[in-house]
Parts: sequence; C-alpha cells; structure tokens
Amino acid sequence: MECNKTSFRLLKARCRTSEVAVDSILGLAKQCPSPKLGSAIRMKSGISCKTSPSNKRAKRIEWMLVTIATVGALFFCGCAMMKKTDQTTKESFCLVIHGGAGVISRTELTGRKEADYRAVLEESLQTGFRILATNGTSLDAVAAAVRVMEDSPLFNAGKGAVLNQEGVVELDAAVMEGSTLKAGAVAAAREIRNPIDAARAVMERTPHVLLVGPGADAFAKETGLPTERPEYFITEPRRKQLREIMDKKGARSEASHGNSNIGTVGAAALDQSGNLAAGTSTGGLAGKRMGRVGDSPIIGAGTFADNATCAVSGTGHGEFFIRYGVARDISDLMKYRKLTLQQASDEVVMKTLVKAGGEGGVIAVDHSGNIAMPFNSEGMYRGYIRQDGKPHVSIYR
Ligand code: ASP
Repeated sequence: MECNKTSFRLLKARCRTSEVAVDSILGLAKQCPSPKLGSAIRMKSGISCKTSPSNKRAKRIEWMLVTIATVGALFFCGCAMMKKTDQTTKESFCLVIHGGAGVISRTELTGRKEADYRAVLEESLQTGFRILATNGTSLDAVAAAVRVMEDSPLFNAGKGAVLNQEGVVELDAAVMEGSTLKAGAVAAAREIRNPIDAARAVMERTPHVLLVGPGADAFAKETGLPTERPEYFITEPRRKQLREIMDKKGARSEASHGNSNIGTVGAAALDQSGNLAAGTSTGGLAGKRMGRVGDSPIIGAGTFADNATCAVSGTGHGEFFIRYGVARDISDLMKYRKLTLQQASDEVVMKTLVKAGGEGGVIAVDHSGNIAMPFNSEGMYRGYIRQDGKPHVSIYR
C-alpha cells in the first residue's frame, strides 16, 4: 500500500472497526517517504487504534480463546496419559478363562475337534456371564465356569483328567477371593467330582488352605459334595496316552510338561461389586508319580487374587510356576513396581519363564477389568466375555 493521505484514512477507518491491527498502520508510517505524514500517521494510529474499544475487545477475546485452548489441551493430554499408564478400561464385570497351554498342533486338532473345544469354552464363558450379569459374585462365576470344563472329558480336569503312573487320576484345584485374600485348595484327590467346589469348601468351611489325598476326598464326602468311583474320571484317550508315555519312556521316567498334558482349566473374574476371584483345576502331568502336586493348588504359584491388583490362573509346567511364584509375582509387579496387568504378566510369562525354560501361560484380570492372556507355548485354549455378553475364544497365536 502506498503511503499517502488516502491510504492512511482507509487504514485508520478499518483500524476502528478492528479489521486491521495497529502494527499495519505503524508499518505504513515506517515506509512513508514524507516524514511529516509519517509522524502524523504514527500519532493518529496511537489514538485511533490503541485506544479503539473494538480492538481492545478483540484482544480480550483472543486472549480468552488462547487460555481456553491451552487449558483444554492440557486436560486432554492429562487424560490420554492417565489412560496409557492406568489402562482405565473400567469394565463393570468380566470373565477370562483358559483350558490349558502347550503344543496344540493344527494338524491334530481337526475342524470337528476344534469346534468341540470351542463349544465347551463358550459354554463356560456364558455360564459365568449369567452369574456376573445378574450381580452374582466373581467367586461364583469362577467356580461355575471351571465346573463346566471339569465336567467335559476334553480337558485335563475332573472327568477326562490325565492318569498318573498307577493309571488313576489325582486331581488338584484352588480358588482365591480377592476381597478377603482367603483361599482354599485340594491336591491329589481321587474321588471328588468337581475339585473346584471342594477347594471352595476348604476356604469357606475350614480354617485351612490346602487338604491333600485321602484327607481331601474324606472332607468332600463329609461336606456332601458329589464324589465318584475312579472309573468315572478315566477316558479311553487318557488310557492310550498313558500307554504311549510308558512304552516310550519306561515306567520309571519322570513326567514333564508337553503336548500330552494340555487341558488344565482356570478362570478369573471381576464382578459388579469390584471383587476379583481366581480358580484353577487340573489332573497335573500325564504319567506323573503318585502324590506329585503341581502349581494349580499352590496359592501364589498357579492361582492368586487380590482386589488391589489382579486375579490370575496359570497353566503350564507346574514345577516352574511353583519355583517362580508366577501368579503372585504378577500381582507384586503391579503392586510394587506399578506395572500394568499386561506389562506384569508379559514380564513373568514371556521373560522370566522363558529364560528359565518354563512353558505355559496365564489368564488374568485386574480391578479395572483389563485382561491379559500371555503364553509362551505354541497355543493356549482361552477366552473372555464382558458386559456385552459376546464370548471370545482363541486357541493359537
Ligand atoms: N500346571 C499344571 C501342573 O503342572 C499342568 C498344566 O497346566 O498343563 O500340574
């Protein structure tokens, strides 16, 4: 714009309606070849623009908008950061289950067989869901979900559990309640139809945590829980499996975790009152010594729940889970190192156990309803269900 009287008048008029800032007027004055007009422009701009009420209002509005935008941005950043570190899913209830981890071969698991496994896992999830959706407790949901899998001959728990060297089942199970830190367990039981219920009865009706062998069977009978003759538990595939193990390794070889043991079952849940619970049930390792007890009924190894952190159920090579206190370690990493559920369970399953050579996985849920299902084996039967009632089931990676 040329510096003359007309352009000055024009700018001055726009300045009053705050269409132009005082800087533009001063800019014009600066380039003015006539010093007289230049100083007149400078003087007028000071009067017209700086004191213009409309310009002042515009400045005030601009300042307010900048402040609101800054506060808003800070608020959203804060929320995003909280979400990242706290995993604030805030589910009102949820259930997560497993049906064992190990080498699950895609060629051996035919379409029909896979459908059978998925059907039982879905039934287990839906059974637990019905309890949680009607305001039932996480403990009830966990026990009911586990019971469905114990009753299925497909899994290594209850009916269809693996056989020990003597050709009989010895069943282990545990439950733990996150609100009270109470726990109950049975181990090496031979007659209890649903070991998960016996574990719960130990927790609720005795001052003890763990009952084993004939003592556990007698306790179940005494409390009126259904018991069965040893034949009820034994299935033909398990007889065949034991024969193969014995033929291959010889009767005196020690059992270890492998594809033959897959099928331990477990559940962890958060209920509408914010209480966590976990439960696990297993026949242990196929061809195990009589009296061998794995991690499932050991509180802090294969099963753990604390409302302050999480509920965990494990599956895998039990001796490693016992030695590394897997379930409790996950809870401790959350409690003392403030890791999220996912970080804590990954740390233990994917680092600690892998380094030690312990195959397996866990399912876990925290007090906000976040879930984690890490496993370091080829596969793990697993699933979860939330308030929407849609069951999610997976087997492979
Ligand atoms: N953890 C179980 C045990 O060692 C077996 C398994 O989960 O596969 O008894």
